[in-house]
Amino acid sequence: MGLKTKEEYIESIAAMKPTAYMFGEKVESVVDNPRLRAGIEATGATYEVAHLDEYKDLVVTQSPLLNEPVNRFTLPPSSIDDLVARVKVNRILGNYVGTCHQRCTGLDCLSTLSIVTYDIDQKYGTNYYKNFMEFLKHMQKNDLVGNAGVTDVKGDRSKGPSDQEDKDMYVRVVDKNSDGIVVRGAKVHQTGSLSSHEIIVLPTRAMRKGDEDYALAFAIPSDTPGLIHVVGRSSLDRRELEGCDIGNVRYSKYCPTLIFNDVFVPWERVFMCGEVEFAVDMVVKFSAFHRQSHGGCKSGKIDVMLGTALTLMDYNGTSKAGHLKQKAIDMIHRAETLYGCCLAASYEGKKMPSGTYYIDTVLANASKIHEGKEMAEAIRLMVDMSGGFVADLPSDRDFENPEIGDLLKKYMKGVAGVPVEHRVKMFRLAEKLAMESADTISDIHGGGSPEAHRITIFRETDVEAKKKAAKRLAGIEEG
Ligand SMILES: Cc1cc2nc3c(=O)[nH]c(=O)nc-3n(C[C@H](O)[C@H](O)[C@H](O)COP(=O)(O)OP(=O)(O)OC[C@H]3O[C@@H](n4cnc5c(N)ncnc54)[C@H](O)[C@@H]3O)c2cc1C
Repeated sequence: MGLKTKEEYIESIAAMKPTAYMFGEKVESVVDNPRLRAGIEATGATYEVAHLDEYKDLVVTQSPLLNEPVNRFTLPPSSIDDLVARVKVNRILGNYVGTCHQRCTGLDCLSTLSIVTYDIDQKYGTNYYKNFMEFLKHMQKNDLVGNAGVTDVKGDRSKGPSDQEDKDMYVRVVDKNSDGIVVRGAKVHQTGSLSSHEIIVLPTRAMRKGDEDYALAFAIPSDTPGLIHVVGRSSLDRRELEGCDIGNVRYSKYCPTLIFNDVFVPWERVFMCGEVEFAVDMVVKFSAFHRQSHGGCKSGKIDVMLGTALTLMDYNGTSKAGHLKQKAIDMIHRAETLYGCCLAASYEGKKMPSGTYYIDTVLANASKIHEGKEMAEAIRLMVDMSGGFVADLPSDRDFENPEIGDLLKKYMKGVAGVPVEHRVKMFRLAEKLAMESADTISDIHGGGSPEAHRITIFRETDVEAKKKAAKRLAGIEEG
């Protein structure tokens, strides 16, 4: 099959028949729904760039598994160069779509599974790595998108999976037979689940003895019977359905709640089932990969926010204001620090027993802490540089209204020579970049909440080595 074009990708999504709801109604065709289509277009960009001369050498690579060219979003890293390319591709795409392209999570799941399934098999003599490699071949051969089904609803956060009053608060096995397992539960905030061919489920947290039914990893097509996608709201979503005041006229992001209503999974699609002690490995590795993916694409998003602010300065007549130039510099250094930290996580990566390369966990988590704080600051700077119309621009329909349209255009004029329509469009884009909740809130909670990053950093840092270095300098000798 080989590399798909964007059009072939969209046809392949159109051919699927998922059960989906939005605003209380069933969605019959996801590709014809303007809100979902804007998300599908964002993922489609990952196919488009694979065919553009400017990007294809970076985005397309050779699969050692198939010995054929594949899109990097289906390739678990098998070298430091692959780890570095992950970050570069995400930055390009963050800049190209100005929102989330929604394909990194699937790669982060594939990369995790290609490490941990091997380790489980080494300990228990199971077949998970073989199952996974067959699945990986399917993903690569058909150039597919995977969605990360990681975050469980979690019920009472002070209790573990098996201690919950309702036992379905974490996705679990409710039945098993010689053909496979039946699973029940719900995964939430499922970025682009309807733009994906496959839902890849991993555990959301560490597990302990007694949680065996919850220590699960598997993959199923996104239109599997019993799977229900309920598309969540985002702050500007109605505008996409109305086709008005959209801001980013090409791309968007949506995140469904995904209900597993007694869904059958054949054994050959199961990658972990009951090996509780490996749940922590799955979640730490996925989170580290995903937190790093975020840094790549969010530095690309700062690039486009900076471009928006600088263009509005041109349109507003403020391009020579010294304090605004300083603010542009503040945006650039935030993007580059984030990017640098993610690249460092790649350069410090290591080969794991399966042969897959894994990034440096501490650097990846440090980049995510930086993102959580500094994306908010970058948005604040963009809004400061752009002006108050980021908040309350009249609608395109008011500009088109014969009674008030010309008056609005007169008063919306900035510098001579810039069409009013351009200034209006650029303010709309700034609004979308600053306020699209499905994207901006992922800066904080995407890939786990900030405290999870901090806990990981402390746990993975060799603090004893640091104490030892200090004691040596202070002349303290122990034992
Ligand atoms: C826009 C967006 C996109 C996302 N995309 C995906 C996706 O594609 N796939 C996916 O699987 N997930 C996705 N996520 C989910 C994301 O990983 C979670 O939102 C994140 O892990 C936090 O979980 P939560 O939302 O349930 O919040 P909670 O876990 O309820 O956390 C809320 C706060 O409570 C704290 N807290 C929670 N439990 C405890 C405890 N026991 N002790 C102390 N403090 C606690 C947390 O640190 C946090 O500060 C996405 C999230 C967002 C916002």
